[in-house]
Amino acid sequence: MKQSVKVRAKDYKSEVKPIWCPGCGHFSVLNAITKAFAGLGIAKDDTVLVSGIGCSSRLPAYVDSYGFHGVHGRGLAIAQGLKVARPDLTVIALGGDGDGFSIGGNHFLHACRRNVNMTYIAMDNEVYGMTKGQASPTTPADWDHSKLTPHGPGVRPFKPAALALAAGAPWIARGYSGNPNQMAGLIAAAIEHPGFSFLHVLSQCITFCPEQTDWKSIVSERSEPALSDADVAASLFHHEDGFQTGLLYAAPRNSWPGPQAQVQSADISEGFRL
Ligand code: SF4
Ligand code: MG
Repeated sequence: MKQSVKVRAKDYKSEVKPIWCPGCGHFSVLNAITKAFAGLGIAKDDTVLVSGIGCSSRLPAYVDSYGFHGVHGRGLAIAQGLKVARPDLTVIALGGDGDGFSIGGNHFLHACRRNVNMTYIAMDNEVYGMTKGQASPTTPADWDHSKLTPHGPGVRPFKPAALALAAGAPWIARGYSGNPNQMAGLIAAAIEHPGFSFLHVLSQCITFCPEQTDWKSIVSERSEPALSDADVAASLFHHEDGFQTGLLYAAPRNSWPGPQAQVQSADISEGFRL
């Protein structure tokens, strides 16, 4: 049984200084994560952050918890394995849009389907930031700021919430780097949700997409309760502008580990049939 501890948000910060560009949205996600941990009273030793590769995937180094900086696109695979082996831990996978929706896209789909009890935070800035601004799976079709796609990528971007829903994710929310308090609440709710929780975060890349500072005038907060009907949610996710934040969809279903799996965690095959 995990003990609730009294730790301040700043106590979860490691001694490693972030090397993100000033104004990068990922600072806000870092602050929201530590605030959520403090709010829930989670012990540092009970927490693991797992990432892939990219600017956002540096985040585990900046948190004083256990962490694993994995290989590109594989954070979710590692995190699910960890949670299955150690269901007592709070496991969070995180990374960027390129890492999660392109290189790790297959892991994303199957993580939604498997419904392991963990949280996935996708920090989406619609670009590959670390490798200097190439188009990613969520780049708008007409974004012409990269020398590699001077006329824009010309293909429709992914809609991450729609993808997650279609693949079976039982909990889908969206945050915004300009609203870290809302994001901290969503992260805490994601951790407490007993299943796979997908938090899509609009996290601006100030260096390669400075126009994303305009997001603050587009982003809205959902005031209605989360949708629980998948058909209604599908319609929303296909037709919305992608800037509505808050808890968007919640339809809990049995997850790994289920009640019996927590008692007998070695019986992995039984857990996946839940
Ligand atoms: Fe952040 Fe973009 Fe700088 Fe990377 S390149 S640290 S995503 S602002
Ligand atoms: Mg990115």
